[in-house]
Formats: sequence, C-alpha cells, structure tokens
Amino acid sequence: MRLVLLGPPGAGKGTQGDRLIERHGIVRLSTGDMLRAAVKAETPVGLRAKDIMARGELVSDEIVIGIIDDRLKESDVQNGFILDGFPRTVAQAEALDRLLAARGIKLDAVVELKVDESILLQRIETRIAEMTARGEAIRADDNPESLKKRLDAYRVQTAPLSAYYAKKGTLQEIDGMVSIDAVTAAIDTKLKALQ
Ligand code: AMP
Repeated sequence: MRLVLLGPPGAGKGTQGDRLIERHGIVRLSTGDMLRAAVKAETPVGLRAKDIMARGELVSDEIVIGIIDDRLKESDVQNGFILDGFPRTVAQAEALDRLLAARGIKLDAVVELKVDESILLQRIETRIAEMTARGEAIRADDNPESLKKRLDAYRVQTAPLSAYYAKKGTLQEIDGMVSIDAVTAAIDTKLKALQ
C-alpha cells in the first residue's frame, strides 16, 4: 500500500498515520520528521531549513524532493509507505509522480483529512498545553504566529493538491472532525473499497 496523507496541521495525520503503518505493515515517510532530525544534527540541509521551519514557512521544493528521492532508495519502503507532509506543493506532487514512475510504482490513494480551520487552532493549542504540562519540549513552530503561517501555507500552497489528485482519481476525502476511531474506520472503509 502506497499512500499520501494530506491535511492541514492538527488534522490528525500523526495519529491516523500511526494506525495505518501498524495495520498495513508499512513505513511512514514524514518530511517534517526528517527535516527536524536534520536541524538537530546540524547537517547542511538542517542549517538551511532551521529558520524557515521555525517561522512556519515551507522549505524549498528542491530540498524536500531530494530528501524523498533518497528515502525511496532504502529497502524498507518496498512493502509500502505513507507520505506524511509530502507533497505540499503542486511542483512536489509532479516531482513525486516522476520519482514513482522511474521506479515503476504508483500511489494507491491520497487520503485527505478535512478539518475546519477554527478547530485546528483549538486542537494545536490543546496539544501545546498538554505537552507543556507533561514537561515535553514543544516544536519551534508550535506558537501562534508560526501556526498562522503554517495554516496560510497550507491554504495557499497545499490545498490545490486536492484538485490535482481528484483529477487523477486517487483522492479519498475523509471527514476529520469526527472521533479518532470514526476517522480510522472511515479511512479503512475507503481503502478496502479500493482492493
Ligand atoms: P510538518 O511536521 O509536516 O508539520 O512539517 C514541519 C515543517 O517542516 C513545515 O512547516 C515546513 O517548514 C517543513 N516541511 C515539512 N515538509 C515539507 C514539504 N514537503 N515542503 C516544504 N516544507 C516542508
């Protein structure tokens, strides 16, 4: 199974992604996680991405396409994968098409979690408060100003991907505003219908 998980920050991609990788025995390819690791390790990519990420803006297509191209060369992706946080622009989606075509593989589905913006702000504020209460480090971009930028970036640069994948016939839209279990069940039903 090869999936893209599409949705704004706070839509539940992390939670649903965890369940999908467990259920289908596939790996998660999260460009956000890979970039945060690069920032922490102070690699050249990390140094280029650090401030851009903290502001809540998108790093260049060239950087993330390179990261995904390298990651797709590793053996653990053979059983399938979930792309989480990639693609985020139409140029990235087109590059992904080329990367997959070069490997003779295709996406099975693009699962879009749809959540209203007013709910997203609330969800992320709750997540920050809970993490702070547990004494956990919060992300550099989990603050109101960067969050607003991340939502703007989603609306302007990433939301057009729905139409891109709808046109290809791979888009599966899911209501992300019901309970976590209900979202999981809805994704399950859609994916089963594809088999
Ligand atoms: P995420 O963990 O997916 O919310 O990503 C955190 C941050 O990493 C984003 O706000 C961007 O700055 C950067 N990032 C992650 N994935 C991408 C991508 N596909 N394209 C551009 N920037 C990205």
